[in-house]
Amino acid sequence: MKYSSTRGKEVLLSPSEALIQGIAKDGGLLVPTEKDVKFEATQFLNKEYRQIAAEVLTPYFSGDGIDISACVNNAYGQDHFYGPSPVCMTYTDSKMFLELYHGKTAAFKDMALSLLPYLMAEALRVRNIQQRIMILTATSGDTGKSALEAFADQENIDIIVFYPEEGVSAVQKRHMQSQEGNNVYVFGIRGNFDDAQNAVKKAFDSEEIRQNAQECGVMLSSANSINVGRLFPQTVYYWWAYSRLIEDNKIQPGEKINFCVPTGNFGNILAGYYASLAGLPVHRFICASNENNVLTDFIESGIYDKNRPFKKTISPSMDILISSNLERLLYHLGKNDGEYVSQLMQQLREKGRYEISASMYSELRSKFYGGFATEDQIKEMIRKTFEEEQYLIDTHTAAAAHVYEAYRQQTKDTTPTVILSTASAYKFADNVLHAVTKETKDSFEAIEALEKVTNVPMHPALKSIAKAELLHTQVCDTEKIIPLIKKLLKESR
Ligand SMILES: *Cc1c(COP(=O)(O)O)cnc(C)c1O
Repeated sequence: MKYSSTRGKEVLLSPSEALIQGIAKDGGLLVPTEKDVKFEATQFLNKEYRQIAAEVLTPYFSGDGIDISACVNNAYGQDHFYGPSPVCMTYTDSKMFLELYHGKTAAFKDMALSLLPYLMAEALRVRNIQQRIMILTATSGDTGKSALEAFADQENIDIIVFYPEEGVSAVQKRHMQSQEGNNVYVFGIRGNFDDAQNAVKKAFDSEEIRQNAQECGVMLSSANSINVGRLFPQTVYYWWAYSRLIEDNKIQPGEKINFCVPTGNFGNILAGYYASLAGLPVHRFICASNENNVLTDFIESGIYDKNRPFKKTISPSMDILISSNLERLLYHLGKNDGEYVSQLMQQLREKGRYEISASMYSELRSKFYGGFATEDQIKEMIRKTFEEEQYLIDTHTAAAAHVYEAYRQQTKDTTPTVILSTASAYKFADNVLHAVTKETKDSFEAIEALEKVTNVPMHPALKSIAKAELLHTQVCDTEKIIPLIKKLLKESR
């Protein structure tokens, strides 16, 4: 396997180079060039998650000696996940939910981030690199904690996480602020997630930072969802889910299904798209947003326009106006025309807006449907799902469930549809409790109250969070990020 850039100007990179480098040198994202990654729809029947992961991930990370089986065996065992399998499928009367939140931080980010440190360690080993690595990550809430948990106390690695001070939930913030480990740094930044993401991108592009890192003998990398080590591990559960539906007699082998995905940075849904490129029988991807519905409008009109107010919602991990991974979809839909993607991304930078060509638009429409849920619709879906089907879902999953219902009504499409459940309801307990009982409690009290009211067992990751000691409380302006990183580079030497 080799990786090239969505903007067409990168030399081909091997998997280990792609893992370490994170982003292409021309500013684009790394994409696989191998067209014949192909699997049979039935090849994973009756196999356990680790085995499927090893088979699916081998072609994406093969060629320069990375031991995928070892990585997968380390990542997807009882050390990192609660329960017999890392993921599970729950059927209610009206819907099918793929639960992806049984990891250490109660959100689906754990699916890829529990594997990423092992992949990185392997990448360093096969390249014989002994330098220290500094991982810079911007987070809308869940990635940060998941990455901190994954990289804490890893040898030769430091991790710095920047989260939007006003843009994450109280539980997400407490989770990050209480992270232990002698190699972790956590900072709130003044601004929203897009500001945090832009500031971190700027730090990566900064000549000053690059030079400083070199002088200190440190390599910079990222744990954000643009890293191929995040993206491809997320394709595994699409294959797992498909096999499970066959095993449970929900579909016939080869039958096409839909996936409905609560979407922010477009990483999760894009992983599904890669699975479909590799042969997974998918009719349509339903892209669900919250009131930050820039993707809904894009899929409807072919115009991406981020010039709109940024809204703070009860599904904060989807509060994003610049969905980074969309760039990869544009590249593939546009028949791998890097020059064209470059132009679109330049328009996005300069005008905050671009319009795709008619041919790209029809490609997009044939595979994707977009919809969004308002705050009230999200709460109503949580209430209804709990009262009518005794199943508790979080605010992000509820957005997807709402959009799925709207999709069915609008299109009359009855294709079996898997809804990806991306977080435990306990991670967003205050809003879930309010949806179910109309009670208003602070986040930490709400966790206990929700368990009492619903009798749904609390996710273990949330158990002692109310009393967790705060270890990282610094907040800074986005302009301060570069001097801050310089300082930490010196200290890590
Ligand atoms: C990150 C996240 C999302 C959005 O996933 P993307 O890959 O960014 O589209 C949705 N729900 C939850 C709970 C998340 O943590």
